[in-house]
Amino acid sequence: MAITEKPAKIRPDKIFGLGIVLGYRCNFSCAHCATAEKKSLSLTNKEIIAILRAIKTHSIKSLLFVGGEPTLYVPVINGILSSLERLDKTEVGITTNGHFAGSRGSAKALLSTFRKLDYVQLSYDKFHLKFLPGPNVKNLYLACKELGIRFNVLFAMESPLDLALLKDLKAVGDFPISIQPVLPLGAARTNSIKYKGVLSTRKMLASRCPSRAFMSYLCGQGFTSCCSSLTFSGSFSGYVHRSPMAHRDSHFYRLISKLTLGEIRKKLGLEREPLPEMQASPCPLCERLFAAKSRGSSK
Ligand code: SF4
Ligand code: SF4
Repeated sequence: MAITEKPAKIRPDKIFGLGIVLGYRCNFSCAHCATAEKKSLSLTNKEIIAILRAIKTHSIKSLLFVGGEPTLYVPVINGILSSLERLDKTEVGITTNGHFAGSRGSAKALLSTFRKLDYVQLSYDKFHLKFLPGPNVKNLYLACKELGIRFNVLFAMESPLDLALLKDLKAVGDFPISIQPVLPLGAARTNSIKYKGVLSTRKMLASRCPSRAFMSYLCGQGFTSCCSSLTFSGSFSGYVHRSPMAHRDSHFYRLISKLTLGEIRKKLGLEREPLPEMQASPCPLCERLFAAKSRGSSK
């Protein structure tokens, strides 16, 4: 799951965009998959009602559907889109593995089944390439171009050597590519895959949550601004809430939206908690702090 556009300032009452995790069904088995531990396979009617209520209450104008693989959930997506009052004013995107783009025609046929689609993000890296035939990338890019849908690529990197793959990608066409380090989550953690750290202890402690301005709905769980370690570790449940405002009003959100991780560590009285080795993001430290808090409060 990844949301790439970031508002300049957080307004507690304003939700600029919503990421919707439809469920964890997928037809690939990537070795670095953060969602490998399938928490829930699809949204219930009650969850869809909660999502629609949040979109209406906060006049949300941008929706990103993710999974799992969102193209396995087209009827659910279309059901949500057909219930929106101002679909014409709502931006709609998906993050997909591109499995359906065996030809330009099959890509166009699948994309045309969406009631509305403004942009497609393709997840592409050496792990996806074990399942994704190389020509699918160009087929999908050209299909999007012909349908007037924006196209970009999310590229997960385990080591700088992976950058060699970008050359092939750039030969396909001119589109934005976002590079993200692989974090030790889900299958990546099981398979000991992660981007070797670039953040020193000092920088980790001075970091703030990178996704504090975002909001997602996680299938089977609820609303949260976290799209990383806490979401996928399962060791702390206080990061997820029944509505966006319940989340923004929570003690957890007040901590991660206002404080650095070093300040949170102090506030939670966890200065003796050992720090993780160098990491590519502050998320492993965040996970460690809230897991320790969880252990402490359950004693
Ligand atoms: S990383 Fe994406 S495409 Fe790969 S198994 Fe996980 S959800 Fe499926
Ligand atoms: S793990 Fe912590 S720092 Fe990372 S996105 Fe989630 S809340 Fe933010």
